Amino acid sequence: MEQKLVVYNTLTRQKELFEPINPPHVGMYVCGPTVYSDVHLGNCRTFVSFDLIYRYLLHLGYKVRYVRNITDAGHLEGDRDEGDDRFAKKAKLEQLEPMEIVQKYTLGFHEILSIFNTLPPSIEPTATGHICEQIEMVKKILECGYAYELDGTVYFDVEKYDKEYPYGVLTNRKLEDLLEGTRELGGQDQKKGRLDFALWIKAKPETLMKWPSPWGWGFPGWHIECSAMSAKYLGDTFDIHGGGMDLQATHHTNEIAQSQACNHTMPVKYWMHTNMLTVNGTRMSKTAGNGFLPKELFTGNHPLLERGYSPMTVRFFMAQSHYRSTLDFSNEALQAAEKALSRLMDAYTKIEKLAPADSSSVDVKSLRGKCYDAMNDDFNSAIVISHLFEAATAINSAYDGKATLAQEDIQELKWLFDTFLFDILGIRNESNSGSASQEAFSKAIDLLLQIRSEAKANKDWATSDKIRNELTSFGFDIKDGKDGVEWKLK
Ligand code: AMP
Ligand code: ZN
Repeated sequence: MEQKLVVYNTLTRQKELFEPINPPHVGMYVCGPTVYSDVHLGNCRTFVSFDLIYRYLLHLGYKVRYVRNITDAGHLEGDRDEGDDRFAKKAKLEQLEPMEIVQKYTLGFHEILSIFNTLPPSIEPTATGHICEQIEMVKKILECGYAYELDGTVYFDVEKYDKEYPYGVLTNRKLEDLLEGTRELGGQDQKKGRLDFALWIKAKPETLMKWPSPWGWGFPGWHIECSAMSAKYLGDTFDIHGGGMDLQATHHTNEIAQSQACNHTMPVKYWMHTNMLTVNGTRMSKTAGNGFLPKELFTGNHPLLERGYSPMTVRFFMAQSHYRSTLDFSNEALQAAEKALSRLMDAYTKIEKLAPADSSSVDVKSLRGKCYDAMNDDFNSAIVISHLFEAATAINSAYDGKATLAQEDIQELKWLFDTFLFDILGIRNESNSGSASQEAFSKAIDLLLQIRSEAKANKDWATSDKIRNELTSFGFDIKDGKDGVEWKLK
């Protein structure tokens, strides 16, 4: 690889040179959605961030096996293996089979991610499709002595494990501190240690989703699915494991413990975590009730929204901040993103219309290196965007006759937009993708403006004003320039 990519590793708390275990192959596992309800915009932020990371790795020439799971079983309401199964609860509420719930929300998830122009993962394994692998792993952890069975439920023995391997390694916390922050075991608790977690949970008579196991009928604990499925498809040690930051302390900490207890090796080389999408400073979540759905965002149909925003405006809004920074939702920020993206797209459409000069009066060549430097610095999309704005300024200056650009620099600018804005940041070029309908739409507006020009020439002010005023009220910006009439959508 020509580019030296540096990534921030949560495990070591520093930026490290990215050196895959078996180049050019890269194994990447990202914790996917729990499909008992619609994904909210916060979930989408994490998946869109990893899409950007995936796209850049592909761009650099890596052969990436990207595994993103679907959690479709074994998710209890509490983080502590207690409470109702969320799938069963939702199934009762909607009067559906649990697997109908799974299907419904999996389809919805795929639809939303496709609207956001994310690439599908290479493998999308489900927890229910890998019960055997999970049972095998639990058996192995028991054999290795890091788990115990009590009445059909198997628990991971955290204190025993911590004697060999530091349990809190991912969040840099000592066992004593973790124990201090956890409530004492009560009379109803069966497990031995406060931090112990379930690998396999005994089914109750009313449990809907259950499977036979060496310990009787039951279902897997939440964390075991990711350890079992990542090992199956990526091996006992693989390159990247990602998810939202909220997964570090419990889910990913337990994944490390399970994999190490089973295979005696650290499962992941680079742990990567996205920061949270917040609303007025509070994390967007399914339970906090502040999680609006992407569809509500597109239509504007939510009390927090002043109006709707296009999917690419939302994707661009996400790319404007680095994946490790928090991103606070606000109407102002989305409106600013909409304006900024439209400025970039506007500049892009002008590239074709530029007349090449013998030489360039502005420096364009350094932008490629600057964009790569930004992406190589832990995927800093925010800085890439600032360089694309420099490119847009060069295009606009040349278009307005205030600067000159040689043919090769015009080509370079087109390459910059095609590569960084469309291929890597994953913005869909809507002026291209709409193709036939977009073209017909543009031709219709051009025709209306031509009729207006003819009306003006005939001093038919009533017709010319009507066309202009109506188009303006529909959101068009119409400018009479020296080379004719220009229009765009505001
Ligand atoms: P869940 O369906 O709740 O298991 O979450 C799916 C993914 O979305 C996980 O990687 C979470 O860490 C991530 N996630 C949840 N809430 C947010 C948020 N507010 N901002 C960013 N990512 C989130
Ligand atoms: Zn996971």
